[in-house]
Amino acid sequence: MDVYLSSDQLDLRRDVRAFLDREYPPERILQMEQDEEYPDDFYRECAKRGWTAMAVPKAYGGSDGSVLDLCVFVEEVGRTSISLSTLYITGTIFGSHALDICGSKEQAAQYLPGIVSGEKRFALAMSEPVAGSDFAGMQTKAERVDGGWRIEGVKGPISGAERAEVIIAAARTANFPGQSRQKGISLFLVENNPGAPTPGLRFEPKRYAAMKALMVNEVHFEGVVVPDTAMLGPEDEGWMNLARLMDPERLANAAQTIGVAQAAIDSGVEYANNREQYGQPISRYQAVSHPLAEAEAEVAAARLLVYAAAHKRDVEGPCPKEASMAKMLANNVAARATSAALQCAGARGYERDSHFMRRVLEVRGCELGGGTSQIQRNIIARFMGM
Ligand SMILES: Cc1cc2nc3c(=O)[nH]c(=O)nc-3n(C[C@H](O)[C@H](O)[C@H](O)COP(=O)(O)OP(=O)(O)OC[C@H]3O[C@@H](n4cnc5c(N)ncnc54)[C@H](O)[C@@H]3O)c2cc1C
Repeated sequence: MDVYLSSDQLDLRRDVRAFLDREYPPERILQMEQDEEYPDDFYRECAKRGWTAMAVPKAYGGSDGSVLDLCVFVEEVGRTSISLSTLYITGTIFGSHALDICGSKEQAAQYLPGIVSGEKRFALAMSEPVAGSDFAGMQTKAERVDGGWRIEGVKGPISGAERAEVIIAAARTANFPGQSRQKGISLFLVENNPGAPTPGLRFEPKRYAAMKALMVNEVHFEGVVVPDTAMLGPEDEGWMNLARLMDPERLANAAQTIGVAQAAIDSGVEYANNREQYGQPISRYQAVSHPLAEAEAEVAAARLLVYAAAHKRDVEGPCPKEASMAKMLANNVAARATSAALQCAGARGYERDSHFMRRVLEVRGCELGGGTSQIQRNIIARFMGM
């Protein structure tokens, strides 16, 4: 079924799997989530092994990986933990692609080598408590001050913000009455100093049911002043650039949920083959085996769509319709697969520390980030002319 993958991509997948199986067995993931332990060591290892270089062009020390390479990588990491894969996606993919889409040469030179070395992790602050799906309704404002901009407002929930060295923040810089609200939004590269207070920046943790190791925050911009050079892309035109950033974000999101779904199915099969009821393994009952069989087929199909969309993005450029289709399908298929696996584990699946339950909750979180499934359907329908 690996019609789209090169031998290098298959090697990458094998290397990542071997590393994660050795260093992040299920007990460690459980402990990490229970302790809300931010996986610094995982990120350091990614840098050491050249994986943070994948999203960065060769000119800046990277290995110029394709979006499909990144999807293969995050799918495999998602199979182990969504906290780990999301940390990678926000830390490297958001930063490198945003700089590629709209960064200046100076900004690229300033930040991209740090993504490669693992010293510059990014976070993307689009959403606000008052503006989620409708994020053009944002209330965060940036106003001109001498030599730069002062940013005021609350963004959130934002993945990995507190530990990021750079936060890409969307803020309203102007209003254009009678025109689209999408105009007048600008992007800023806001530097943060994890571990020490950054003047004007305050983080509040969001307590979610899963992805506890990742640290999702509400970020309070309380008069943060950034220089003129911190503006990313043209003033008032940030919306279009964010829209272009959504392709890699959604494809990576889709790929990681495929990883979770496959892990859930594999665990379900193992459990069903070992659990006996009425004198035989429960996998002998079609009522148990068929939902997992159906999930296996659905996940295989969704994976192909994700790979095809990533390939299209690599070869042809922007592919918003395909990225939305891949995200919606992968998230929905993964929700069904993780639920089928949970059901087959019976009460054990419902235990507080069960990996079956963790995966159900992880997939629900992915379904919200990057635009919900309803929003993806809206986008697809728009491209269909409705
Ligand atoms: C774990 C996690 C991590 C996140 N990380 C980030 C991050 O790093 N950066 C960031 O910027 N954001 C992040 N988000 C925020 C995420 O993007 C938003 O949660 C998402 O856009 C939905 O916004 P909302 O939660 O405010 O829901 P709302 O927009 O209030 O929507 C509520 C419900 O109404 C539906 N709805 C709303 N409008 C429509 C419509 N027009 N048509 C159909 N249905 C509609 C939605 O689909 C949803 O079911 C994260 C969220 C989570 C859960």
